[in-house]
Amino acid sequence: MVKSCDVIVGGGGMVGLTLALALAGGGLDVVVADPLAKDAALDCGFDGRVSALAYSAVRMFQALGIWPHLEAQAQPIDDILVTDGAPGRAPSPLSLHFDAAEAGVPLGHIAENRHVRAALFAAAEGMANLRLAAPAALCDLTVEAQGVTALLGNGESWRARLAVAADGRDSAMRARMGIGVVGWSYPQTGIVATVEHERPHNAVAYEHFLPAGPFAILPMTSNRSSLVWTEREALAPRLMALPDQAFNDEIAARFGAHLGATRSAGPRWSYPLKFHLARAIVRPRFALAGDAAHGIHPIAGQGLNLGLKDAAALAETVLDAARLGLDVGTLDVLKRYERWRRFDSFTLAAATDALTRLFSNDIAPLRALRDLGLGVVDRIGPARRFFMRHAAGDIGKLPRLMRGEAA
Ligand SMILES: Cc1cc2nc3c(=O)[nH]c(=O)nc-3n(C[C@H](O)[C@H](O)[C@H](O)COP(=O)(O)OP(=O)(O)OC[C@H]3O[C@@H](n4cnc5c(N)ncnc54)[C@H](O)[C@@H]3O)c2cc1C
Repeated sequence: MVKSCDVIVGGGGMVGLTLALALAGGGLDVVVADPLAKDAALDCGFDGRVSALAYSAVRMFQALGIWPHLEAQAQPIDDILVTDGAPGRAPSPLSLHFDAAEAGVPLGHIAENRHVRAALFAAAEGMANLRLAAPAALCDLTVEAQGVTALLGNGESWRARLAVAADGRDSAMRARMGIGVVGWSYPQTGIVATVEHERPHNAVAYEHFLPAGPFAILPMTSNRSSLVWTEREALAPRLMALPDQAFNDEIAARFGAHLGATRSAGPRWSYPLKFHLARAIVRPRFALAGDAAHGIHPIAGQGLNLGLKDAAALAETVLDAARLGLDVGTLDVLKRYERWRRFDSFTLAAATDALTRLFSNDIAPLRALRDLGLGVVDRIGPARRFFMRHAAGDIGKLPRLMRGEAA
């Protein structure tokens, strides 16, 4: 039997679930399908990453009732310190410093991805018009003039006015709809580990540019930080296989002494680093959101923030159309979402790609130039404040949810 809803979302990751909460909060009937059972998505071994949530994303989580389930486990960022250097070499004296007090808004929060997912599930609990089908992949979509029919892995069929693919970077639904991507791989791997340290981090996030790529130390609750260590692709497997003591020594050589003795706690994860942009983000009765639409280097910690902005903009576009009594799946409505998001995603993706290339090498003239650039930006107040507003996500046309208002 074919059941009916307003919107079917393929992918119950952080972007898909946030979008579903926004749409359901606006009164639409929403079904989210994901091949991963809820328990598996929350398991400690599934995803060891943290996310730097920009303040605009935090405001969105507040507006959607997600934040009360996450706040106690999220670490505010009061300062960001950016330096250039090499393992065992003192950081360049020309560094860049962002201070939340000067920005006038918090720079953001660091939250473990598993805690974000748990908060999203908690906020969804008890919402009668939001149904989570998991484990159940979105297996097929058939688009017709009046609606779209989705076939799920658990055998259910759903008829909706709109289908959204938030099924991650290798989106099967993007391919199913014939949307290609422009993309490439970086010769780099992202190594992620949680590090315990002797001294408090005082809510400071460090981005240390090493020859192999950025080495980010992101403050977590207690005396812990999350390491996002970009390393040459060829060297990463050897680092991943090191015994604990040798791995800790490698961390200490890059970390510096400012946090006292350091020790990796828990498992290590590694992620191949890639870039991609979908050639289109809408089709009749179909839209892409999150990593299904774009994947960027984690150098600036903006991938999830970009996806959450998709969710906020798509929810606003769809709910505005529904309030006017329009059919929310028509190309006219969806093109508004595409016009809103494409330029912003392209600009940020291009900027992170350029930053990655500029900061992932040890070529002396480039090193001198970027040191000088960091020093210059640090000395010019308006330039510094511009970058801080970027880090806080307070830039461009912000959807209502990201301003803390209802969608
Ligand atoms: C090392 C690293 C560090 C990062 N750090 C940051 C950071 O600090 N800040 C930040 O903003 N971003 C960061 N990012 C980027 C961020 O992690 C991603 O942008 C974000 O997780 C994308 O979320 P998503 O929901 O779009 O996709 P995903 O998290 O990939 O979720 C996709 C979901 O779709 C499901 N799915 C797959 N196939 C199907 C199907 N056929 N049907 C239905 N469901 C399906 C999957 O099970 C999954 O639940 C980082 C990335 C890396 C690699």
